[in-house]
Amino acid sequence: MKHCDKKAVTVNVTNRCNLRCVYCMACAGDEQDKAYSIPLDFALSGIRDALEGIPSGIKAEMLRFFAPGEPTQDMSVIRQCVDYARQIRPGCIVELQTNGLFENDDNAKWIAENISVVWFSLDGPASTNDRNRPDAFGKGRTADIERYLGIVQSRTKVGVRVTVTDEFLDNQEALVEYYHRLGVKFLALNPVIRPVKRGEQGLISVNASSQMRFAKGFCRAFKMAEDYGMEFTNSMSFNFDEPTNVSCRSCLPMPQLNPDGSVSSCDMAMYRDTKDELKPFIYGEWDAEKKIIAYDNEKIAHLQSHRLESLPKCSKCPIGKYCAGGCIGRIAYQTGDVNSVLPEICAATIYMAKHIPLGRMQYTQTHP
Ligand code: SF4
Ligand code: SF4
Ligand code: SF4
Repeated sequence: MKHCDKKAVTVNVTNRCNLRCVYCMACAGDEQDKAYSIPLDFALSGIRDALEGIPSGIKAEMLRFFAPGEPTQDMSVIRQCVDYARQIRPGCIVELQTNGLFENDDNAKWIAENISVVWFSLDGPASTNDRNRPDAFGKGRTADIERYLGIVQSRTKVGVRVTVTDEFLDNQEALVEYYHRLGVKFLALNPVIRPVKRGEQGLISVNASSQMRFAKGFCRAFKMAEDYGMEFTNSMSFNFDEPTNVSCRSCLPMPQLNPDGSVSSCDMAMYRDTKDELKPFIYGEWDAEKKIIAYDNEKIAHLQSHRLESLPKCSKCPIGKYCAGGCIGRIAYQTGDVNSVLPEICAATIYMAKHIPLGRMQYTQTHP
């Protein structure tokens, strides 16, 4: 499976969050005194458009919940969106990306029964996760999250997304071992990146740790993960399983409906006043009076022109069809040009492509 096969309309539910992760990409801690949820009429309208293929002509095939906060902080939005999507498309696949700290057992049970795939963000054992991802009172909550993971996993498919900090860069096998003990079969590891600050400008390195160290550690852990029957991916390898000329779903584009009424195609651009370099991904705006979404066709065409054959460096790259430009959000963040490349990330991606198999077409999930 390649990344662009995940044709998902994403509802970015709320910027409210019950954790205060030390590296939070969305700077959620800064938002809590003015936290809000997505307007429901905007979310439903965006879901309907996406399932009908408006405006790109490419129909969304699944519904996904993510957020610049924690989506389950507003279960009412999630429940109503799921009901609506399944009225339009019975049996619609639904995915949730969550920090796993649900408000109560009822929510955990509802999620287990109604969500098709649940990705937990969890950075390893409590000794690390409690430090990286404390709650709003500074308390570690790993034990509660592991319990919820168990409840959800008993009824539905569960993956874990790990932000790999320095402690595990060279020992990703320890993470594999830990998640194997929890019974997890889908593991996506990513090196920590810098936060996206609203309204920020300037070309700043996206990387907060060595990409090559991460790549070497990932390759060492790969065989162990596969021997345990895991699907094992990261944000650089997400096209290794199947050749493609599309870097990721942001270039179809697949819509992400943001809490502030903007429409984006990238997980990194979650507000209309996002970092300037990420604004090419903001391609629509909710009109609350007319109750329609106005789409920017010029931006859509620009995203759709981002294809392997039109990228000067990638089209000549030996692993071009197994990367196709990779995560262009990171490229845009750092260079302001989605057609550019990041040499440090390219070197790490090419290293991994030499050490782990390509083109097997056997993974059933891609990077969340
Ligand atoms: S759970 Fe997500 S949104 Fe909340 S603080 Fe952690 S990284 Fe940020
Ligand atoms: S040049 Fe870099 S970004 Fe482009 S395909 Fe190769 S590894 Fe990927
Ligand atoms: S963060 Fe990267 S992989 Fe995710 S949607 Fe944005 S460009 Fe695509």
